[in-house]
Amino acid sequence: MERMTRCMNCGAEREADVCESCGLGSTAAEFSLRRRLLNRTGMFVLGGLAFVVASGRYPALDLDEILIFIGVVFFLTLGLAIWVERRAIRHRELEALKRIYFALIPVPWLLAVLLLANGALDGARPHAERARVIGRFSMPGPVATRRLVVTSWRENGKLERVPVDRVDFDRTFAGDTVDVNIKDGLVGIPWVTGVSRR
Ligand SMILES: [Zn+2]
Repeated sequence: MERMTRCMNCGAEREADVCESCGLGSTAAEFSLRRRLLNRTGMFVLGGLAFVVASGRYPALDLDEILIFIGVVFFLTLGLAIWVERRAIRHRELEALKRIYFALIPVPWLLAVLLLANGALDGARPHAERARVIGRFSMPGPVATRRLVVTSWRENGKLERVPVDRVDFDRTFAGDTVDVNIKDGLVGIPWVTGVSRR
Protein backbone atom coordinates (compact mmCIF):
# COMPACT_ATOMS: atom_id res chain seq x y z
CA MET A 1 0.00 0.00 0.00
CA GLU A 2 1.12 3.52 -0.87
CA ARG A 3 2.51 5.22 2.23
CA MET A 4 0.82 8.44 3.38
CA THR A 5 3.62 11.01 3.52
CA ARG A 6 1.73 14.10 4.61
CA CYS A 7 -0.39 14.75 7.69
CA MET A 8 -4.07 14.85 6.68
CA ASN A 9 -4.78 17.49 9.30
CA CYS A 10 -2.10 20.11 8.69
CA GLY A 11 -0.40 18.94 5.49
CA ALA A 12 3.10 18.75 7.04
CA GLU A 13 5.50 16.05 5.91
CA ARG A 14 5.57 13.33 8.49
CA GLU A 15 7.73 10.32 9.26
CA ALA A 16 5.91 8.65 12.14
CA ASP A 17 2.23 7.96 12.85
CA VAL A 18 1.99 11.03 15.09
CA CYS A 19 2.52 14.32 13.23
CA GLU A 20 5.32 16.47 14.66
CA SER A 21 3.62 19.70 13.57
CA CYS A 22 0.10 19.32 15.00
CA GLY A 23 0.44 16.29 17.28
CA LEU A 24 -2.40 14.27 15.75
CA GLY A 25 -2.09 10.57 14.98
CA SER A 26 -3.13 9.39 11.51
CA THR A 27 -6.64 8.31 12.61
CA ALA A 28 -7.36 11.60 14.41
CA ALA A 29 -5.97 13.51 11.42
CA GLU A 30 -8.28 11.53 9.11
CA PHE A 31 -11.36 12.47 11.15
CA SER A 32 -10.25 16.09 11.35
CA LEU A 33 -9.89 16.23 7.57
CA ARG A 34 -13.23 14.53 6.93
CA ARG A 35 -14.99 17.00 9.24
CA ARG A 36 -13.43 19.91 7.33
CA LEU A 37 -14.42 18.32 4.01
CA LEU A 38 -18.02 18.07 5.21
CA ASN A 39 -18.11 21.71 6.41
CA ARG A 40 -16.58 23.06 3.21
CA THR A 41 -18.86 20.90 1.08
CA GLY A 42 -21.81 22.46 2.95
CA MET A 43 -20.45 25.93 2.08
CA PHE A 44 -20.05 24.86 -1.54
CA VAL A 45 -23.61 23.47 -1.84
CA LEU A 46 -24.99 26.65 -0.22
CA GLY A 47 -22.98 28.66 -2.75
CA GLY A 48 -24.59 26.68 -5.56
CA LEU A 49 -28.05 27.51 -4.22
CA ALA A 50 -27.05 31.17 -3.76
CA PHE A 51 -25.89 31.24 -7.37
CA VAL A 52 -29.18 29.84 -8.71
CA VAL A 53 -31.18 32.40 -6.69
CA ALA A 54 -28.85 35.31 -7.57
CA SER A 55 -28.85 34.43 -11.27
CA GLY A 56 -32.57 35.21 -11.46
CA ARG A 57 -32.22 38.76 -10.08
CA TYR A 58 -30.68 40.30 -13.22
CA PRO A 59 -31.21 37.38 -15.60
CA ALA A 60 -28.52 36.96 -18.22
CA LEU A 61 -29.69 36.60 -21.80
CA ASP A 62 -27.72 33.34 -21.96
CA LEU A 63 -28.95 32.16 -18.55
CA ASP A 64 -29.62 28.58 -19.67
CA GLU A 65 -26.11 28.11 -21.05
CA ILE A 66 -24.64 29.64 -17.87
CA LEU A 67 -26.72 27.34 -15.64
CA ILE A 68 -25.69 24.25 -17.62
CA PHE A 69 -22.01 25.24 -17.38
CA ILE A 70 -22.26 25.92 -13.64
CA GLY A 71 -24.13 22.62 -13.15
CA VAL A 72 -21.33 20.67 -14.83
CA VAL A 73 -18.66 22.45 -12.75
CA PHE A 74 -20.75 21.88 -9.59
CA PHE A 75 -21.03 18.13 -10.03
CA LEU A 76 -17.39 17.71 -11.12
CA THR A 77 -16.38 19.54 -7.92
CA LEU A 78 -18.61 17.32 -5.77
CA GLY A 79 -17.04 14.31 -7.52
CA LEU A 80 -13.62 15.66 -6.50
CA ALA A 81 -14.84 15.92 -2.87
CA ILE A 82 -15.93 12.27 -2.93
CA TRP A 83 -12.56 11.28 -4.39
CA VAL A 84 -10.66 13.19 -1.66
CA GLU A 85 -12.75 11.55 1.07
CA ARG A 86 -12.24 8.03 -0.34
CA ARG A 87 -8.48 8.62 -0.39
CA ALA A 88 -8.66 9.94 3.20
CA ILE A 89 -10.44 6.77 4.38
CA ARG A 90 -7.71 4.65 2.76
CA HIS A 91 -4.95 7.00 4.06
CA ARG A 92 -3.63 7.75 0.56
CA GLU A 93 -1.73 10.88 -0.45
CA LEU A 94 -4.32 13.61 -1.12
CA GLU A 95 -2.67 16.96 -0.35
CA ALA A 96 -2.80 18.31 -3.94
CA LEU A 97 -6.39 17.17 -4.58
CA LYS A 98 -7.47 18.66 -1.26
CA ARG A 99 -5.96 22.04 -2.15
CA ILE A 100 -7.69 22.05 -5.54
CA TYR A 101 -10.99 21.17 -3.89
CA PHE A 102 -10.70 23.85 -1.19
CA ALA A 103 -9.79 26.43 -3.86
CA LEU A 104 -13.03 25.63 -5.73
CA ILE A 105 -15.29 26.16 -2.66
CA PRO A 106 -15.76 29.96 -3.15
CA VAL A 107 -16.33 29.72 -6.92
CA PRO A 108 -20.19 29.62 -6.88
CA TRP A 109 -20.24 32.47 -4.32
CA LEU A 110 -17.91 34.59 -6.48
CA LEU A 111 -19.96 33.89 -9.62
CA ALA A 112 -23.16 34.84 -7.75
CA VAL A 113 -21.56 38.16 -6.72
CA LEU A 114 -20.29 38.67 -10.30
CA LEU A 115 -23.78 38.23 -11.80
CA LEU A 116 -25.33 40.53 -9.16
CA ALA A 117 -22.70 43.22 -9.76
CA ASN A 118 -23.08 42.82 -13.53
CA GLY A 119 -26.73 43.84 -13.22
CA ALA A 120 -26.87 46.07 -10.13
CA LEU A 121 -23.94 48.32 -11.11
CA ASP A 122 -24.89 48.54 -14.78
CA GLY A 123 -25.67 52.22 -15.30
CA ALA A 124 -26.18 52.08 -19.07
CA ARG A 125 -29.60 52.48 -20.67
CA PRO A 126 -31.31 49.36 -22.00
CA HIS A 127 -31.65 48.91 -25.74
CA ALA A 128 -34.65 47.24 -27.34
CA GLU A 129 -34.27 44.34 -29.75
CA ARG A 130 -37.27 43.39 -31.85
CA ALA A 131 -38.14 39.69 -31.91
CA ARG A 132 -41.04 37.39 -32.69
CA VAL A 133 -42.24 34.96 -30.04
CA ILE A 134 -42.07 31.33 -31.20
CA GLY A 135 -43.03 29.62 -27.97
CA ARG A 136 -43.17 29.80 -24.17
CA PHE A 137 -41.79 27.54 -21.49
CA SER A 138 -42.30 27.55 -17.74
CA MET A 139 -41.31 25.22 -14.96
CA PRO A 140 -42.67 25.77 -11.44
CA GLY A 141 -40.51 25.24 -8.37
CA PRO A 142 -38.74 27.10 -5.55
CA VAL A 143 -36.87 29.02 -8.28
CA ALA A 144 -39.44 29.20 -11.07
CA THR A 145 -38.19 29.14 -14.66
CA ARG A 146 -40.02 31.17 -17.33
CA ARG A 147 -38.66 31.55 -20.84
CA LEU A 148 -39.91 33.10 -24.05
CA VAL A 149 -38.45 31.41 -27.11
CA VAL A 150 -38.00 34.19 -29.67
CA THR A 151 -36.27 34.76 -33.00
CA SER A 152 -32.70 35.96 -32.54
CA TRP A 153 -31.36 39.39 -33.44
CA ARG A 154 -27.77 38.30 -32.92
CA GLU A 155 -25.44 37.07 -35.64
CA ASN A 156 -25.42 33.29 -36.02
CA GLY A 157 -28.30 33.09 -33.57
CA LYS A 158 -31.37 31.06 -34.53
CA LEU A 159 -33.46 31.34 -31.35
CA GLU A 160 -33.12 33.06 -28.00
CA ARG A 161 -34.50 31.66 -24.76
CA VAL A 162 -35.28 34.90 -22.95
CA PRO A 163 -35.76 34.68 -19.17
CA VAL A 164 -38.80 36.71 -18.09
CA ASP A 165 -40.80 37.37 -14.94
CA ARG A 166 -44.38 36.21 -14.36
CA VAL A 167 -45.97 39.48 -15.56
CA ASP A 168 -44.15 39.49 -18.90
CA PHE A 169 -44.70 35.76 -19.28
CA ASP A 170 -48.46 35.87 -18.69
CA ARG A 171 -49.16 38.65 -21.19
CA THR A 172 -47.00 37.38 -24.06
CA PHE A 173 -48.01 34.66 -26.50
CA ALA A 174 -46.62 32.81 -29.49
CA GLY A 175 -46.89 34.96 -32.61
CA ASP A 176 -46.49 38.28 -30.74
CA THR A 177 -43.83 40.72 -31.83
CA VAL A 178 -41.98 42.07 -28.81
CA ASP A 179 -39.16 44.36 -27.80
CA VAL A 180 -36.65 42.51 -25.64
CA ASN A 181 -35.01 45.14 -23.44
CA ILE A 182 -31.33 44.35 -22.99
CA LYS A 183 -28.58 45.91 -20.92
CA ASP A 184 -25.00 45.06 -21.79
CA GLY A 185 -23.87 44.43 -18.20
CA LEU A 186 -21.04 45.88 -16.14
CA VAL A 187 -18.73 42.96 -17.00
CA GLY A 188 -20.16 42.36 -20.46
CA ILE A 189 -22.77 39.71 -19.68
CA PRO A 190 -25.93 40.98 -21.43
CA TRP A 191 -29.06 40.69 -19.31
CA VAL A 192 -32.79 41.15 -19.80
CA THR A 193 -34.65 43.97 -18.04
CA GLY A 194 -38.01 42.97 -19.48
CA VAL A 195 -40.11 42.34 -22.54
CA SER A 196 -42.68 44.76 -23.94
CA ARG A 197 -45.31 44.01 -26.55
CA ARG A 198 -45.30 46.22 -29.58
ZN1 LIG B 1 -0.23 17.52 11.30
